[in-house]
Amino acid sequence: MAKVELILKAGREKSLLRRHPWVFSGAVAGMKGTAQPGETVDIVDAKGKALARGAYSGRSQIVCRVWSFSEHESIDGVFFRQALEHALERRRVFSAGLEPNGGLRLVNAESDGLPGVVVDRYGEWLVGQFTSAGAQTWKGEIARILMELTGAKGLLERTEGEVCAQEGLTESVGTLAGLTPPETIPLQEHGLSYAVDPWHGHKTGFYLDQRDNRLLVREGCQGRRVLNTFAFSGGFGLNAMAAGAEHVTHLESSAALLSQAEDHARRNRLPEDRFDYCRGNAFHKLREWRDQRRTFDCIVLDPPRLADSQAGLMRAARAYKDLNWLALRLLAPGGRLLTFSCSGRVAMDLFAKVVADAAIDAGRHVMIQRYLGPPADHPVALTFPEGRYLKGLQCIVD
Ligand code: SAH
Repeated sequence: MAKVELILKAGREKSLLRRHPWVFSGAVAGMKGTAQPGETVDIVDAKGKALARGAYSGRSQIVCRVWSFSEHESIDGVFFRQALEHALERRRVFSAGLEPNGGLRLVNAESDGLPGVVVDRYGEWLVGQFTSAGAQTWKGEIARILMELTGAKGLLERTEGEVCAQEGLTESVGTLAGLTPPETIPLQEHGLSYAVDPWHGHKTGFYLDQRDNRLLVREGCQGRRVLNTFAFSGGFGLNAMAAGAEHVTHLESSAALLSQAEDHARRNRLPEDRFDYCRGNAFHKLREWRDQRRTFDCIVLDPPRLADSQAGLMRAARAYKDLNWLALRLLAPGGRLLTFSCSGRVAMDLFAKVVADAAIDAGRHVMIQRYLGPPADHPVALTFPEGRYLKGLQCIVD
């Protein structure tokens, strides 16, 4: 079969030469041959020089995602086996230190050379998202290889949400290989037990990307009043209580998640009377508490992605500023703020500037103690800045 070529406009090869793995539709001059979604094509520059091989995806703004920067590489089972072995090897040292039943990101998409492929391990089970046409084409092969390499019991696919519309994919949730996973999977992290819902929980069931930061929140929590906004299933607040917090308030918009947080407190035999579960919209609740002059000694601000497009960036920056301003108004002198953004479009510089603006308006002197990010099983390729989505600041506030 003749190879299909995706021909770039003159000058648009630059990002590929810098090993960025995406080709946007606006960079394409034309195609030689036709390709089905997910089919491997050769990417060539305007003069016909081969640059890379990738998965075609005509329905996405990102028309091609690179599998290999070597123009001779065959994209087949051998290629995926090698890529997956590498991904596991990169995590070998790190995973050796994990608790039994620990959660681990095995494959971190573009950064591991596998665009659109995210696979997390929860004990004996794997949960994956295959959010590109290429990942969809190869997911069966990828699942088979991962089952063999990890000895997992089964792999659940969770390809759903807005990304499917963006990428022109149909949603796909179900067992991709091996046995069907149970409704909940036990997870152990920093000595605490959780029940992860692999079928319905956000992302693949748990925010593994906040693992390191959940441990950091413990520092200096003893005898303190802690506010865990955007609580999800309780993670940050449970760690604070395990470190001897006087009181933890979980603030979360979902009642079902608050009851999971409550179940997690019970599971870990943490003192139930020292937790508060508040259901509400954080933007409104924080304002209400500010009016009531409530104070906390430590606040975690971990909102969902607020910037979903370049156009929405200014609106998101205002929302981050508002949230941080409110949190700073609620912090007692000498308090600690752990503030995060998981919007890929908000870079650390911009985020720090937004928090600085909030600090000035709140009239507080704020010092950064630590720059925060994802843990070692979420490595980010230097050539793929879009992968640097999670960032945070640990601040002390006079
Ligand atoms: N910190 C958590 C993850 C937070 S994810 C952890 O480490 O596990 C963001 C959470 O914010 C989700 O659980 C979502 O349900 C909740 N949420 C989204 N919008 C909200 C709002 N306006 N007010 C309160 N909670 C909200």
